Formats: sequence, C-alpha cells, structure tokens
Amino acid sequence: MSVVKEIENPVSESLFEKVGIMGHEQVVFCNDEATGLKAIIGIHNTVLGPALGGTRMWNYATEQEAITDVLRLSRGMTYKAAISGLNLGGGKAVIIGDANKIKNEALMRRFGRFVDSLGGRYITAEDVNMKTKDMEYVHMETDHVTGIPESMGGSGDPSPVTAYGVYMGMKASAKQVFGSDSLKDKKVTVQGVGQVGMYLVEHLVKEGAKVYITDINEAKLKQVAKSTGAEVVGMDEVYDLDVDIYSPCALGATVNDDTIPRLKAKIIAGAANNQLKDEKRHGYMLLDYSITYAPDFLINAGGLINVGAEYYGTYTQESSLKQTEGIYDTCTRIFDLAIAEKISTQEAAIKIAEQRIESIGKVKLSY
Ligand code: NAD
Repeated sequence: MSVVKEIENPVSESLFEKVGIMGHEQVVFCNDEATGLKAIIGIHNTVLGPALGGTRMWNYATEQEAITDVLRLSRGMTYKAAISGLNLGGGKAVIIGDANKIKNEALMRRFGRFVDSLGGRYITAEDVNMKTKDMEYVHMETDHVTGIPESMGGSGDPSPVTAYGVYMGMKASAKQVFGSDSLKDKKVTVQGVGQVGMYLVEHLVKEGAKVYITDINEAKLKQVAKSTGAEVVGMDEVYDLDVDIYSPCALGATVNDDTIPRLKAKIIAGAANNQLKDEKRHGYMLLDYSITYAPDFLINAGGLINVGAEYYGTYTQESSLKQTEGIYDTCTRIFDLAIAEKISTQEAAIKIAEQRIESIGKVKLSY
C-alpha cells in the first residue's frame, strides 16, 4: 500500500487491476438464488488482525457502484483500525438491493453463513440500512459479528463513544490552533444532531462552548435545542457562520470547492465519514486556507474501538472511553507530522497508519 498508489474512483478495466491498485487481499461475491442475496465482502488488509467493518445495504444503480463502494469503505477501515492502535484489519460488506423490499430473516441469515464461511477473516457489524435485529439474524449463523445489543452480551450503541472521540479530537485541534484545549466560549457549529451529534453537543455545552446546530429532521433539532440550549441555525447557513469550529456530523463530502472558501472556522472536526470530497485535493486546499482538519477516520474511531473490544471479549464502556481518549494524542502527533513534512493532516494520518501496518507486519514474520 502507498499513498501514491491510492485512487479515489478506480477506473481501471479489470477487477484484479482495481484490487491490485487499492491493495485488497480478497473480494468475495456472495450469490443466493433462494433468498435473492447479492453481496460483496471486501477484505482489504489483515496484517494487524481480522478485518472488521459493517455491512451496508443499498439499492446501487449498478454493480460497478457497489464494487467501488465496498473497495473504498473496506480500505478506509484498514486506516481507521491502524491509526487507532487496534489489532484489527479493514473490511466491509455491501448487500445490493432495496432494504425495504428484500431484506428479511432468511436473507440476513444466508448472509451470516457467507460471513461464517470466511472463518473469522471478516467480522461484520451494522452500517447503513442495517438494524440491531438484522445483526441478531446474522448472529444465528456466525459468531463473527459485533454490535450485538447489550441485553445479548454485546456492546450496544457505539454512538456515545464515537461522540467522545470527536470531542477529544476537537480539543486536540483547539490546543493546536488556539494554544489551549479549553472549548469554553468557543463557537462551534454541529451539522447533524443524530446519535453522535446529539452526544457531542452535550459535551460541548457542558464545557461552556456556544453551540449552533442544524439538521434536516425538525423534530430532532427542536428536541436537542430544548434539552441542551444550543441555538438552531439554517441548513445552508452553517458554512458562512462566524464560528471557531465546524463539526460535520451528518453527511460526507461537505468539505469541498464550494464550502472551503466560505468557512470562517479555523478547525474542522466531526463524526461524518469521508468529509473531504476529494481526499487529496481538499486536504491541501484546507492547508492553503489555514484551516486545521482533524482526520475523520481517526476522530470517529470510537465506535470501532467499542465493537473491537466486544469482539475480543474485553468490552466495558469505561475501558472503551479510556482508549478513545487516546485520539487526543494521536491528533497531536498527526498535526506535528503534517507541519514537519508540510503535508495535509489527512496525508499525515494515512502515513502513520501505513507505517504501523508495515512495522507490525515485520513483527509477525517470525513464528
Ligand atoms: P444519524 O443518522 O443518527 O444522524 C445523522 C443526522 O444527520 C440525522 O439526524 C439526519 O437527519 C441529519 N442530516 C442528514 N442530512 C443532513 C443535512 N443535509 N444537513 C443537516 N443534517 C442532516 O447518524 P449518526 O450515527 O449520528 O452518525 C453521524 C455520522 O457519523 C454519519 O456520517 C456516520 O457514518 C458517522 N459515524 C457514526 C458512528 C457511530 O458510532 N454512530 C461511527 C463512525 C462514523
């Protein structure tokens, strides 16, 4: 693997070329006539441990889209696990089809059998359009699944831990930019007050930050505003507000050619995956605009830390929160490397992740 070889939209002709460029170890196509299951499991890298990553169900317009999605997502999980110091590799699965129409117990259990056939090389969890109940069906056919409800001995909802990691990343960024990690009186916009955003707002308000929130879900927005005292702002307004920190906690690709010149914030630190529309170009554009970016795949890793501990049987919320606290120091390390090498923070984070995979890979060479 190398940053240089990395590509965003694999356009090469053969599948082997694509997985060769992106560095995947294994791609598994799962097909079952009886249940209508069509799934792809991407195992990107297992040097550090078994590949852990959620299963996403999506009505992809083309098979090509599904392949691109699973390849990108599984590679992202490799970096997330590596930078977080976890002994886990990167993997992800996609199920093709409309979840409202074809998802049922049989389909999920058949998928579980495919996961089981990989003997633990791939461990699944919830992602888009998957519910805890679906993971219970998968669990009927395999032990290689995480994110099981607490009532069944699992770690339950990872969102509070994810939010805590984002909060730690934000504090480390504040220390870097403002010289103090206190968020008291800092103005912060949180875009999306779903599971993670809501817990994040609670941390920020508790510390005395002035928080602005927005969401497409009016009811949720009102509820969070009422319970925390955060101020509601318009959806498009978020990019123009005179704030210190912008925290994307809803969608990916919100950091792009249109939004970067509008931002007044000096820090971007949020939970959403793939915030940079173009990982490389927008990472460097932020550098030009003197905006400090806390890489999303690092600061939103609390959820992975949670399910990873569940898989290894070491889970307690207290220990997951403690481990997630380490995101602060890793952020600082990334900022230092980015400054020393005059590279974007995104590139610095990928570099540190790749170095860990390379060095631990060598440790494993001898029996
Ligand atoms: P969620 O679905 O609970 O919350 C997302 C919120 O964003 C919803 O309230 C939704 O209404 C809102 N939203 C959607 N489009 C919007 C828009 N255009 N403008 C403003 N708000 C909008 O999801 P979540 O679990 O809170 O996750 C938030 C983000 O963090 C997602 O991108 C997710 O992939 C990522 N993430 C979550 C976790 C986790 O532990 N839940 C872990 C890692 C990454």
